[in-house]
Amino acid sequence: MSGGATPMMAQYLALRGEAGDCLLFYRMGDFFELFFDDARQASQILDIALTTRGEHLGQPIPMCGVPVHSAESYLARLIKAGCRVAIAEQVETPAEAKQRGGSKALVARDIVRFVTAGTLTEEALLEPRRANVLAAVCEMRGLVGIAACDISTGRMELEECAPDRLGAALARLGASEIVAPEGWEAMPEGAIARPARGFASDSGEARLKAIHGVATLDGFGLFTRTMLAAAGGLVAYLEHVGRGSLPLLLPPEARAGNAALAMDAATRASLEILEAAQGGRKGSLIDAIDRCVTGAGARQLAEDLSAPLTGAHAIAERLELVAWLHEDGLLRESLRAALRALPDLGRALGRVVAGRGSPRDLGQLRDGLAGARALHDRLGGRGDLPLLLARLLPALAGHGALVDRYDRALVPAPPTERGQGGFIAEGYDAALDELRRIAGNARRAIAALEAKYRDQTGVATLKIKHNNVLGYFVEVPARHADKLMAPDSGFSHRQTMAGAMRFNALALHAEASRITEAGAHALAAEDAHFEELVTMAIAARQAIAQTAAALARIDVAAGQAERAAEGGWARPEIRDEPCLAIEGGRHPVVEAALAAAGERFVANDCRLAPEDRLWLIGGPNMGGKSTFLRQNALIVLLAQAGGFVPAQAATIGLVDRLFSRVGASDNLARGRSTFMVEMVETAAILSQATERSFVILDEVGRGTSTYDGLALAWAVAEAVHETNRCRCLFATHYHELARLAETCEALSLHHVRAREWKGDLVLLHELADGPADRSYGLAVARLAGVPAKVIARARAVLEKLEKGRAQTGGLAAGLGDLPLFAAAFEAREEACDGLRERLRGLDLDALSPREALDMLYELKREAGTDP
Ligand code: ADP
Repeated sequence: MSGGATPMMAQYLALRGEAGDCLLFYRMGDFFELFFDDARQASQILDIALTTRGEHLGQPIPMCGVPVHSAESYLARLIKAGCRVAIAEQVETPAEAKQRGGSKALVARDIVRFVTAGTLTEEALLEPRRANVLAAVCEMRGLVGIAACDISTGRMELEECAPDRLGAALARLGASEIVAPEGWEAMPEGAIARPARGFASDSGEARLKAIHGVATLDGFGLFTRTMLAAAGGLVAYLEHVGRGSLPLLLPPEARAGNAALAMDAATRASLEILEAAQGGRKGSLIDAIDRCVTGAGARQLAEDLSAPLTGAHAIAERLELVAWLHEDGLLRESLRAALRALPDLGRALGRVVAGRGSPRDLGQLRDGLAGARALHDRLGGRGDLPLLLARLLPALAGHGALVDRYDRALVPAPPTERGQGGFIAEGYDAALDELRRIAGNARRAIAALEAKYRDQTGVATLKIKHNNVLGYFVEVPARHADKLMAPDSGFSHRQTMAGAMRFNALALHAEASRITEAGAHALAAEDAHFEELVTMAIAARQAIAQTAAALARIDVAAGQAERAAEGGWARPEIRDEPCLAIEGGRHPVVEAALAAAGERFVANDCRLAPEDRLWLIGGPNMGGKSTFLRQNALIVLLAQAGGFVPAQAATIGLVDRLFSRVGASDNLARGRSTFMVEMVETAAILSQATERSFVILDEVGRGTSTYDGLALAWAVAEAVHETNRCRCLFATHYHELARLAETCEALSLHHVRAREWKGDLVLLHELADGPADRSYGLAVARLAGVPAKVIARARAVLEKLEKGRAQTGGLAAGLGDLPLFAAAFEAREEACDGLRERLRGLDLDALSPREALDMLYELKREAGTDP
């Protein structure tokens, strides 16, 4: 690429234009090369050398490259770093190019696909235990449609929600890539803008019908126009990144808005469900409970935890299966051993349907389906199958013809490379066997030739060798070459090496041609078989996906049963009333961390009911308040996900929405005003929590001054009690809030116990009834290693303050007289205050008579007294 716009440069720049905001991988021989800014960016992310090549417009062109054979690992790193990559391949051979355009012709190149975070199928680029979700969102007539799919397994889901629920829905999906119509004001953060015309319900519907070969989508579920518009955007994007070819897509499922326990992004983050606060899986809920033995099981569990159920019936079905497997340890163990041996059926199918399957993937389909069938036969004989399992069972069988064919067609362990052949089994195709026999005979004949030539020439060191350039040849040390150089020797000279000479021989050439020819035919035959086997898998894709899903569901249940057996967990009882009774509840993550340090977790009870639904929890810092709050939220979540819970016993009244909020100072790392964040999140709870919701509030109000904080905490607790009427655990260090118990009849006081013993603070982590007696702040400070001198000084200051408090009635003096919950009254007062502010701000002397009159009208309107 030298000088101005060489043909190659022109080709490159055209492809670069097509690649848009993706990096362009430009194939040159055995390398993918990147140029210009792409090269700068990629070399930095990949930490590879940035060089230059030729020049463009008088400037050297920055360049870097990655070898084609190891491109996947580089792609993985670029994708992780948030890049998208367009792959430009050579779409003809150099020979074809010459034939087409003469000796100087440039090999044609084209973008064959885009590699993006949400559209991966390669095993090496995917995390086995995590779904990889691509989502398309758009808005239509005041509603938001969401289409989500995991193309590595083909699952697709459509839903619709109010715009203010979009954040929560996206948080549930945890998509690695989101696309949305360009120009949409409510574009989610980080979304990729796509042409708006793709997001049309008509084309969405038409595409789905075409993909699944149906005349109507009714058989799959009820889909709204908004859902279909999002589906249209999704399919259009998939077509774009696949350059017209579509990956595996299973029939869409409609997700009902209220089928899952609603949790917003803040709640998910604060409960650390799939990811710990500091990032990564370690320290998260799923990390502490996942005992699945397959990647598909782990992905299903993650989904279950992201979207726990709200229907008692569906939860009961899952629980019954877990209980069944919990009871029978032997059965569970043997099932898990069988599952562990199975390949990842769903993802192998995804690759095969996407046209990127290998013989090994076909082998995985065969082994996975055969394994499923074996499970089916083992379980089918039992008379005590739980309902859910009985329903899943048929999906495990039914691939007899396919497995049989694959069994006959494929060798036991097919290779990952399709091009080399060798994956079709002996005895499957007589013609192929014959070709292989010919090649084999020729190889044997060549081996025999070596002995014959040695005899004939008398050169004992003569050898027949093979390389990719010459094919088969005869080699002798240079000092013996004369005999073979003789004109009538029957050998013809091919190459002179240092110390050796290479020759051809007629008989050798004949046998070698036989090998080559038979080999090429054999390869072509294997290739044809491969296509045929792939076609069979594609035709059965839905049934195979169902088998994969059934296996995953069984693995999840067996894993939950295993975890329950390991930790002495209980089967929760699910009720359809707003209660929550947990005996001996534990926090699985904190318990595991303590166990690792050889410490014991103190189990605690929680009993919420309509007449006692708000627990105010005090006690010293580090006393275990947050842990208690979260363990109860997690127990609800685990129960509604259909699993056992870390408790001695639990009765869970179904929860529609779960909220978890932590006072701001725990989140100082975040950029925005943390107190602002805390208040935005609290506002969301107050506007959304229902009588069926469960809310945990941890030190709300902590992020601001003492008076502000106390006032807000007070008002929030009151509102939760009076207006939302949800079940709520409220941890606070404001003693003053205890006075709420006098006026709020469904609020009760609790505290985590602590004791001072010989001047040391002992945190018991035990929950007790009644208000906290004191805060132990100084004792905690001492525990934390604050110097004794400072503690002594603090004690002196504290005494002074407490004396003052005794005299004045303290921080909350006068709060007892506050009229309670006079919402209407408060609102009116606030409006009036607004008016007062306006009046106070008016400069009467600066107003013209006309302006004064206008102002009077406006104020009157604002005061709401205008008719
Ligand atoms: P708080 O919210 O009251 O400040 P935390 O809930 O953050 O306290 O707990 C502080 C630490 O105490 C935890 O990290 C854990 O090590 C320990 N802890 C909390 N609850 C328990 C418990 N029930 N049993 C044993 N240790 C606990």
